[in-house]
Amino acid sequence: MKDSDCIFCKIANGEIPSKTIYEDENFRVILDLAPATKGHALILPKEHYKDLFELPENIASDVIVLAKKLATEMKEKLGCDGFNIMQNSGETAGQTVFHFHMHLIPRYKGDRQKIEWEKKEPSQEELEAVRKQIVEQ
Ligand code: AMP
Ligand code: ZN
Repeated sequence: MKDSDCIFCKIANGEIPSKTIYEDENFRVILDLAPATKGHALILPKEHYKDLFELPENIASDVIVLAKKLATEMKEKLGCDGFNIMQNSGETAGQTVFHFHMHLIPRYKGDRQKIEWEKKEPSQEELEAVRKQIVEQ
């Protein structure tokens, strides 16, 4: 399914031009218009899935395999020193375009980008309560 109001559906399916670095039957990978670093790219499925929760499992596994392949190629060609692979699902998590996409962010020594969070210090009891909440019915 495509969503006629979705800009990433239009980009993924070639109706709006983009800086494409990879394309196959199911995906288009484009350069982000407002990159965190040189080479910041987005993996877009050609079908419309709003977020991770709507993504079928087979597409999810293809996304991570593609992310590994492209990160490896980009590391060689761009000479980056590391990589962040990120996915935001939901407004609270920072998602701004509601068509699933995976960020591929090459990292360079001294690039001064920040992908980090404030570290909390839960007690063992608090960690155990969370563990139970996740694993128990
Ligand atoms: P997120 O905040 O995870 O939803 O990420 C959305 C990303 O899409 C941001 O990094 C934007 O810079 C990028 N973006 C938005 N519109 C376009 C576009 N037309 N072409 C390329 N990248 C875009
Ligand atoms: Zn879409």
